[in-house]
Amino acid sequence: MAGELILVVEDNDKNRKLVRDILEFKGYRIIEVTTAEEGLEIACVQHPALILMDIHLPGMDGITAFKHLKADPRTSKIPVIAVTASAMPNEREVIEAAGFEGYQSKPISVKKLAAEVSRIIDAHPTPHMTD
Ligand code: MN
Repeated sequence: MAGELILVVEDNDKNRKLVRDILEFKGYRIIEVTTAEEGLEIACVQHPALILMDIHLPGMDGITAFKHLKADPRTSKIPVIAVTASAMPNEREVIEAAGFEGYQSKPISVKKLAAEVSRIIDAHPTPHMTD
């Protein structure tokens, strides 16, 4: 399937453009924001099928944002892929322990990102919204 709405939370312009190009080429619809705070607001209102969450963001970081998403019944079922440069050796473990549905390391690989997005969207079919 294609056409699902994906929320991209990424403060780096180049990474955001790359992610946009990959996802639009695959036929997804995108909303882009540059802060976790905006991401939380948009997620509540737009109910994206998937969120790509940068971890290092100005203001709230991506792991804290993920915890907010999972604590809110309006957004708790939305799968979230963490996207980060694994500068810290234990960051991958922290991300896995937090419970993210997926993980992508930077620099972003076009093939790996496309495969991970489609795997996770297929595993989490969007329920029909009746409201
Ligand atoms: Mn960042």
